[in-house]
Amino acid sequence: MLAQLHILLTYTCPFECDHCFVYSSPYAEGTFSVGRLNQLLDQAQDVPTIDWIYFEGGESFLFYPLLVEGVRSARERGFEVGIVTSGFFAATEADAELWLRPLAQLGIADLSVSDDAFHHGEETDNPAKRTIRVAKHLGIPTGSISIDPPDGFGTIGQAKGEPVAGGSVMFRGRAVDRLAPGLPGRAWDTLNECPFEELETPTRIHVDPYGHVQLCQGISIGNVWKTPVRKIMEHYRAADHPICGPLVEGGPVELASSYGFDPDDEYVDECHLCFETRRSLLHRFPEVLTPHQVYGMA
Ligand code: SF4
Repeated sequence: MLAQLHILLTYTCPFECDHCFVYSSPYAEGTFSVGRLNQLLDQAQDVPTIDWIYFEGGESFLFYPLLVEGVRSARERGFEVGIVTSGFFAATEADAELWLRPLAQLGIADLSVSDDAFHHGEETDNPAKRTIRVAKHLGIPTGSISIDPPDGFGTIGQAKGEPVAGGSVMFRGRAVDRLAPGLPGRAWDTLNECPFEELETPTRIHVDPYGHVQLCQGISIGNVWKTPVRKIMEHYRAADHPICGPLVEGGPVELASSYGFDPDDEYVDECHLCFETRRSLLHRFPEVLTPHQVYGMA
């Protein structure tokens, strides 16, 4: 049952982390307009099972007035609202309060703050910690997301279908290009399950500024600027989808085998093989494997 709509408010981010799923950076393009945002929230209202709206990125606070308007508009429509941020704005606790108080007054139900060395180095006090302290003081339910650097002992990620809450790097996006080289791997033909996403019966979807409805970063099942979310979800059948079908049947191994991808002997984890296979298929499935920027392509 689809319960969560994650709005990728922008691909732009002040950071350019090695582990970023969506290849965000200060130069990454793609941001919602306020009109598109309200159009999407109208569509979400038409799906009775959706009760949570998450705002994420990129960095959702980079376009602060748009974020505040999105939260206001989502709350007005009766949704619970969560936000994901690095807390980059919290130069001091007073600054954190300036940015967070208006959101606290709108009644957000979750603030997830990326607090790890990828974002903030090894500082003991950092913008994320200041954001968390102030959010708690303002009564905002708050948690931290801390991704461990890869250690060669495999990938421990989030529970299937749940937002990322911590654990080790998953090898999608920039992590494949920056972090995977040189790490120990597993035999490619053992990677026969998608461990992290509910591809058959999605409980959450991600929608980006271009309208792509993504079940995992770079796997689209439709475009909300052409077809409303409700209809996309009503018509979605994993078995009929050229990427999700093989992934459900036999994980990344089946995806690679189905399309004659010539694999290396080993990959760090399931996502690594899945991502490399999909990147080799970009020109074959341009409407489905999109946007190309999350594959590190201009
Ligand atoms: S195996 Fe593929 S679809 Fe599944 S979580 Fe990893 S990258 Fe996403």
